[in-house]
Amino acid sequence: MHLKSLTVRGFKSFASATTLKLEPGITCVVGPNGSGKSNVVDAIAWVLGEQGAKALRGGKMEDVIFAGTAGRAPLGRAEVTLTIDNTDGALPIEYTEVSITRRMFRSGESEYEINGDSCRLLDIQELLSDSGIGREMHIIVGQGRLDGMLHAKPEDRRSFIEEAAGVLKHRKRKEKALRKLDAMQVNLNRLTDLTAELR
Ligand code: ATP
Repeated sequence: MHLKSLTVRGFKSFASATTLKLEPGITCVVGPNGSGKSNVVDAIAWVLGEQGAKALRGGKMEDVIFAGTAGRAPLGRAEVTLTIDNTDGALPIEYTEVSITRRMFRSGESEYEINGDSCRLLDIQELLSDSGIGREMHIIVGQGRLDGMLHAKPEDRRSFIEEAAGVLKHRKRKEKALRKLDAMQVNLNRLTDLTAELR
């Protein structure tokens, strides 16, 4: 599984539809200060369901919509589509290519799509939940966050890595199963006592 392309339209500084093709391996985005490099990363976080305006470096969610420039009028909606290569079947869906779209209007109304079909944000989160692209967005390390991770307590750093690697979910399931086993053992002990009393 790898990110194949990103199309942004009306999102932050990208007024016209712009597509970035991504190849497997490392992609570098270079450009002068303020040219929109971080906006590309914001677009990936946003399409994956980011709900916090602050995480997208804005004051309110509508700030992601192109606000206009001296030569170009503001737009009424922002739209981002992220296409993921799924030839290895890492995502539990019968498509070798999966496109996730998020659209937002100035009214605040949002729309989500998987391969062109309307869906809920929850459907996208569920689709991606085993892929390491968790809700906590540890796959995106913003400017300044690297320092935070390097200085985090070892346990916190471990949980970042576990979420990114998709291990956290299984650790939580294991803890739940162990709690159930404990409760079962208590019941079993009680049953053994009662059987002994009845003999
Ligand atoms: P640096 O190298 O300094 O970190 P950068 O290339 O990462 O810069 P960004 O932070 O991605 O740049 O882009 C900032 C630019 O995006 C600014 O010029 C800002 O005016 C523009 N911008 C942000 N939001 C919007 C919006 N809603 N409408 C229009 N332009 C926007």
